[in-house]
Amino acid sequence: MLKNRLITYSGCHHPPPVESAPALETSGLSTTYEQSRVAALQAIDLTVEPGQRVALVGPNGAGKSTLLKVVADLLPPTGGSIRIFGHPAGTCHHRVSFLPQRTELDWRFPVNVERLVMAGRYVHLGWLRKPTDADRRLVREKIDLLQLDHLRDRQIGELSGGQQQRAILARTLVQEGELLLLDEPLNAVDARTRKIITDVLDQLRHDGKTVIMATHDIGRLESDFDQAVFLVDGRQVDAPPDQQEHRHFGD
Ligand code: ADP
Ligand code: MG
Repeated sequence: MLKNRLITYSGCHHPPPVESAPALETSGLSTTYEQSRVAALQAIDLTVEPGQRVALVGPNGAGKSTLLKVVADLLPPTGGSIRIFGHPAGTCHHRVSFLPQRTELDWRFPVNVERLVMAGRYVHLGWLRKPTDADRRLVREKIDLLQLDHLRDRQIGELSGGQQQRAILARTLVQEGELLLLDEPLNAVDARTRKIITDVLDQLRHDGKTVIMATHDIGRLESDFDQAVFLVDGRQVDAPPDQQEHRHFGD
């Protein structure tokens, strides 16, 4: 038996949700990047109820990705607290599915679409167990849903940007999390990919999943989201960032 757990993504922790707890609750959540000394998050208070779809909005450098990573337990907070379905972050890996920004991944990694998507199952399998037929079926199902079936054997480096975006979303979906943290899934994608991903988001809402999504699409906040969280320089603000900042969106 290992004394210290070296692998965070294991299938061993399955605490049930605390009854009537929010999907996510942060209090005074702060993070400073050690190297750059940038206070990327400063005292963020959030409550997200199960089933809500929340937009995370702000100019580049506002802290959107940092917030999603801290909630996903990929970065340590330097202050404040996080509860996910009533539990501290880190005890609920199987309930949280994180979609990184496409540009943060190394697309030269030699792996095909099917293997990339299967990697999402390791949150349940642990690194040492082999995928079962049920895992393979689920991977195929999500690849089909994202309309990548004809590309399942293709190396990920040979995909278009939109196809890459759909592949990593498929990987996120096979995790079968209850809380999905999506970092700009609609940024710089082609019209077909946008439609496919938008349909997937609608299905997630229909399934009662909780979604927190970084987005630049501020024209659709009221129609598409239950709540919007505005960030500027790591701080929560009440109103959308002003027009000046909008011009920098998406660059
Ligand atoms: P957004 O996703 O809203 O564009 P980020 O969360 O990526 O913002 O960045 C927030 C702040 O933290 C920025 O000032 C950025 O330069 C800084 N930052 C982000 N990642 C790192 C890192 N790995 N090391 C040091 N500073 C970082
Ligand atoms: Mg970002």
